[in-house]
Amino acid sequence: MKDKYPSIAEALNWAREKLHLGESPQVDAKVLLQHVLGCEPVYLLTWPERCLTELQWQQYQDLLEKREAGQPVAYLIGLRDFWSLSLKVSPATLIPRPDTEVLVEQSLKKIVNLADTEIVDLGTGTGAIALAIASECPLAKVYASDLREDAVQLARENASSLHLSEVDIRQGSWLEPFSGQTFDLIVSNPPYIDPQDPHLSQGDVRFEPISALTSEQNGLADIKHIIDTATDYLKAGGWLLLEHGYDQKQAVQQLLDKAGYSQIFTEQDYGGMDRVSGGCYLA
Ligand code: GLN
Repeated sequence: MKDKYPSIAEALNWAREKLHLGESPQVDAKVLLQHVLGCEPVYLLTWPERCLTELQWQQYQDLLEKREAGQPVAYLIGLRDFWSLSLKVSPATLIPRPDTEVLVEQSLKKIVNLADTEIVDLGTGTGAIALAIASECPLAKVYASDLREDAVQLARENASSLHLSEVDIRQGSWLEPFSGQTFDLIVSNPPYIDPQDPHLSQGDVRFEPISALTSEQNGLADIKHIIDTATDYLKAGGWLLLEHGYDQKQAVQQLLDKAGYSQIFTEQDYGGMDRVSGGCYLA
């Protein structure tokens, strides 16, 4: 007698069909099924004829329903890989983007992993940037801040499950929780999208917190605030590195220049877009 519930192969076919208008039906179908089965990718390939249980099939259908309605896979499974880390994510924070790994790479180029190196990640969200840096620089002292209490909670959970609890994560606006402290490196992926940007009504960003995405003054208000206040929090020769929009290189470089930074540079993301700019503060 044929089992009552679909096999792995049948469930995947059904899901791919259901998601065919989406961006990545193949990958989404697999990732969501792995989540439901609690298995590794190889299991789906090895046992295509194994049948789902009633509960698994129900859970898979529920997830597919939500994905079809546009909810990001990362929120549905509660996880997203970033750098070498698997991070817990929630709708309290932005889902870490692969492009933000460029910001981590550039940060690692600027810091010497010495015991007295102090680094802070502003608006840390899941903790992605701070935790990636901390995982590469065990001797450095890494701090992070976020305005939202639920984000701070999540970042601390991630720190703890990644055995990086020594990262000091504080609640507050940008540099405010660090009054009187100075850093060798200040890094941030702040909100930088213009509130009028039509992309905000498309795709995954619709489900992400708007406070983590948009900023006034054509997306530049928070970047400007960070550039202007960071000078009080940098050691002589310390670096500020920021992620920004693909069309904001010139504006960000000008803001850095005006605020007195030197050695100003911009790096591109993996898609060849201007994405990260920074400068060194000597004064
Ligand atoms: N790069 C993200 C996007 O375009 C936005 C991230 C941010 O605002 N910091 O979806």
